[in-house]
Amino acid sequence: MLAYRHLFHAGNFADVFKHAMLTRLLIHLNKKDKPYLYLDTHAGIGSYNLAHDWARKNAEFQDGIAKVYDARNAPAEMGPYLDIVRTMNGPAAPNKRAGLGQYPGSPWIARALTRAEDRLVLNELNKEDCAQLRALFEHERHVHVHDMDGYQALKAFLPPPERRGLVLIDSSFDRSQEYKRLAEAVTNAHSRWATGVLALWYPLMDARDVQSFEQRFVHSGIRRILKLSLSVQAENWTGSLRGSALLVINPPWGVDEEARRMLPWLWRQLAVEGQGEWEVRWLVPE
Ligand code: SAM
Repeated sequence: MLAYRHLFHAGNFADVFKHAMLTRLLIHLNKKDKPYLYLDTHAGIGSYNLAHDWARKNAEFQDGIAKVYDARNAPAEMGPYLDIVRTMNGPAAPNKRAGLGQYPGSPWIARALTRAEDRLVLNELNKEDCAQLRALFEHERHVHVHDMDGYQALKAFLPPPERRGLVLIDSSFDRSQEYKRLAEAVTNAHSRWATGVLALWYPLMDARDVQSFEQRFVHSGIRRILKLSLSVQAENWTGSLRGSALLVINPPWGVDEEARRMLPWLWRQLAVEGQGEWEVRWLVPE
């Protein structure tokens, strides 16, 4: 039984960070004509109604997407992400943007940016959520939805015949040992597909757990690992999520510089009373 439902958290500051960076990765993949695979191992339901009771319960989106939805001073690199969210919410009336009522999940963002010749494999273990995801994309011939374990999906779908692509591994972290499980699964996926772009999201919780997770990658023998992170509360904050990070293995050229323009802006919009920080750092260089 899976307890985690992403609708409770949709559009929060961690989603904004993760999805804004996801758009950059996809935009870079689109620069070449050759088709690619987008694999989402923990896909969620794809689209979130922010008026739903679950989304309103803690209204996490108010401290996330709601703070940037109307922004007019965002760096250019934020544009495609903000456009996707705004388009999903309908056309703006003259001089007025449509209200924020819907928020896209990673599958929606990938669907918006991929081309007809690319292949999307979306995987979600929760049967109910998976059914919603399947219904959302039922008419899309290049979208394939599965309900297996996300780490099993890495084994089942990699390496892809396209030989190019992006994998998003966005676990709900609702089990102890998830850092270890994630590190092992990703190391294994990389050993079978060394050239793919692998992006893995993780929460910044206990500092020792985070450090030992990152050290596993430093000592893994894998090269070109970029760390991107955004936190909105101080390191000693004891409330719920204070920040999150993405490790990107084989990031497309230039993503680090783009992140250096995006993350300071995002931090200024989202940080609670100037707490937290942003980071762009090569955990392992070339
Ligand atoms: N990637 C989504 C997005 O950005 O819109 C959000 C995903 S949410 C953080 C994590 C999802 O993983 C949840 O929908 C949960 O049901 C699903 N999940 C939990 N354990 C899983 C597993 N072992 N394999 C696949 N999916 C799993």
